[in-house]
Amino acid sequence: MALESSLRYRPSHAGRHVLVTGGGAGIGRAIAMAFASRGANVSVMDWSADSAQEVCNAIREAGRGDAYPLSVDVSDYAAVERGVREAEAHFGAPVDSVVNNAGISPKHGGLPASVCDMAPEEWNRVVGVNLTGAFNTIRAVGDGMRRARRGHIVNMSSVAGKTHSPVVACHYAATKSAIIGFTKHLAAELGPYDIRVNAIAPGRIETPMVLAVDAAINDEQVRLTPLGRLGKPDEVADLALYLTSDESSFVTGQTIDVAGGLYMT
Ligand code: ADP
Repeated sequence: MALESSLRYRPSHAGRHVLVTGGGAGIGRAIAMAFASRGANVSVMDWSADSAQEVCNAIREAGRGDAYPLSVDVSDYAAVERGVREAEAHFGAPVDSVVNNAGISPKHGGLPASVCDMAPEEWNRVVGVNLTGAFNTIRAVGDGMRRARRGHIVNMSSVAGKTHSPVVACHYAATKSAIIGFTKHLAAELGPYDIRVNAIAPGRIETPMVLAVDAAINDEQVRLTPLGRLGKPDEVADLALYLTSDESSFVTGQTIDVAGGLYMT
């Protein structure tokens, strides 16, 4: 790398408007906090009004970027669009970056249901949140990004979207695989507008959802993970920061694992 290039000034995320869905807990919370720590204005969208508010309070108390809570179910397009317009009016700026993190992975007695026992309504609900939820936010912010000729989209996939994982059910796996294809398509479609679209495939991460399951399940996942531990939400947030920064300016259409080597997909 040429010296001038390696000494290039690299601005952080200061002043950017970043929308994080599912920002109220776990990985999404860590992502919202990480963007705020880099000076971004963060819209925290979560269907739990209390969680979104708590994260925004934490951001303001830390005295970093500003934060705005949105109590929205991402599977409801009209509500997403309303929330996005409200946040844009609050910050006086369109969304520059969106992280589609909201997701659900229903279990039955702590275990994933078999396809043969799954209620069709449960299948539709998971598709509605994990996949259509990502479409909904992108539909709501995409035109603004296209007009600005800049933007970043980060979608949350999973290692369970790349290979079989025994700890999730088929609806979750199917949506996380679909996110990978959706990400590639969007990268091709929006690349000419300088909008980059990538996805993250976390492995087993220490979130409230993961810590709530039977310890034996997590122990087995750790045994299969070469780094020998659960990941931390901050380690996923670091990749989201990278994928929305100038440091990744030639990276698009990729789904990158943060999994300590689990499955090495
Ligand atoms: P993880 O951190 O592993 O992604 P969590 O369950 O801890 O999983 O966090 C997911 C977040 O997404 C939670 O804050 C949850 O409230 C949020 N969420 C789940 N479903 C929706 C939805 N339909 N709309 C908005 N937020 C959602």
